[in-house]
Amino acid sequence: MKTVDQCDFKDKKALVRVDFNVPLDKEFNITDDKRMRAALPTITKILNDGGAVILMSHLGRPKGGPENQFSLKHILGDLSRMLDLEVKFADDCIGASAVDAARNLVPGQVLLLENLRFYKEEEKGDKDFAAKLAKLGDVYVNDAFGTAHRAHASTSIIAEFFPTEKYFGYLMAEELKNAEKINNNAEKPFTAIMGGAKVSDKILLIESLLEKVDNLIIGGGMAYTFSKAQGGEIGTSLLEADRMELCLQLLEKAKAKGVNIILPLDTVIADKFDNNAEKKNVDAGHIPADWMGLDIGPKSVELFSEVIKKSKTLLWNGPMGVFEMANFEQGTRAVANAVVAATKENGAFSLIGGGDSAAAIAKFNLEDEVSYVSTGGGALLEYMEGKELPGVKAING
Ligand code: AMP
Repeated sequence: MKTVDQCDFKDKKALVRVDFNVPLDKEFNITDDKRMRAALPTITKILNDGGAVILMSHLGRPKGGPENQFSLKHILGDLSRMLDLEVKFADDCIGASAVDAARNLVPGQVLLLENLRFYKEEEKGDKDFAAKLAKLGDVYVNDAFGTAHRAHASTSIIAEFFPTEKYFGYLMAEELKNAEKINNNAEKPFTAIMGGAKVSDKILLIESLLEKVDNLIIGGGMAYTFSKAQGGEIGTSLLEADRMELCLQLLEKAKAKGVNIILPLDTVIADKFDNNAEKKNVDAGHIPADWMGLDIGPKSVELFSEVIKKSKTLLWNGPMGVFEMANFEQGTRAVANAVVAATKENGAFSLIGGGDSAAAIAKFNLEDEVSYVSTGGGALLEYMEGKELPGVKAING
């Protein structure tokens, strides 16, 4: 793997694609800076070599033109504090202001370019736009795992302009190393824990996991479609009616492959989608009409925890319930604790897939108690599905 360790950045201007797509509150304060912190080692390495850094990122989902709410200037102060230097800012990612700022940059300095997605060309993977970005630096570094599954101008197309001078940053290298451990070198028993809202988002992942895992635990909103497909009563719980047949096929496939699919035995139900709703426990498949399942119940917690604690490899993607509400977080919290116990007491390798399971692990302050928390949601899922990520191919190819 070609990483920044293979390059001496002395007197070079490194164009680094980072994923600074961090959540901001209404006053533009960063509410979770993990993605920024994760990119610091790469930036520091380049500066320590005697190079300069030009950072490019996207933020949010602008409609293709400048929008103040999505300006990267909002993160400039925090970035400067993290690096302990005054980061410069170009209010455009291409054009005269970016070109001038990049030209004036000297070794030891960092420049942050304005949001790449203020140009539609970024997501279209436009070659001319990529060429304009490429002109700003001497070397290209990709450290944005969160967008590695996109063939965008700054994540993939730009690499064509750096036939040899292109490298993975430390975050990318670490993410790929950990994902690879699960993909090809998983020690058994290997248990995948799937949750979250929708089956449809995770079909391909479930199918590819059936080739690898010993146990597949299914919780969260998606479990109710499985329950209904098997003839259960699910009240007003999340349902993807058009996926019921597929759920039955997945169960058949798992049986044929000898994979143990473990579904919830019981569920915590509520009379409305509200933290203060009336709630009770019922067996799975016995949810009264007008009630909805918002978490797994205590019997499920016990069963899931037992399987998790005996595992040597764990992949967790998606919460067990609506963990954002304190009254429906217990199932997700218990699974998180079981994953921690397996890691500590059984020496298991535990990888937490990005997105909502990463948010849950952070909410419970357990980020340092598991083996690795990925910064990538979609990118990790696609990697696990066996797809070649454009951002990875661009550097390797
Ligand atoms: P995903 O992005 O597919 O991983 O889904 C994560 C979201 O699923 C979280 O915001 C959870 O609140 C939500 N979720 C998990 N379980 C349930 C459930 N039983 N009913 C409704 N939403 C759920």
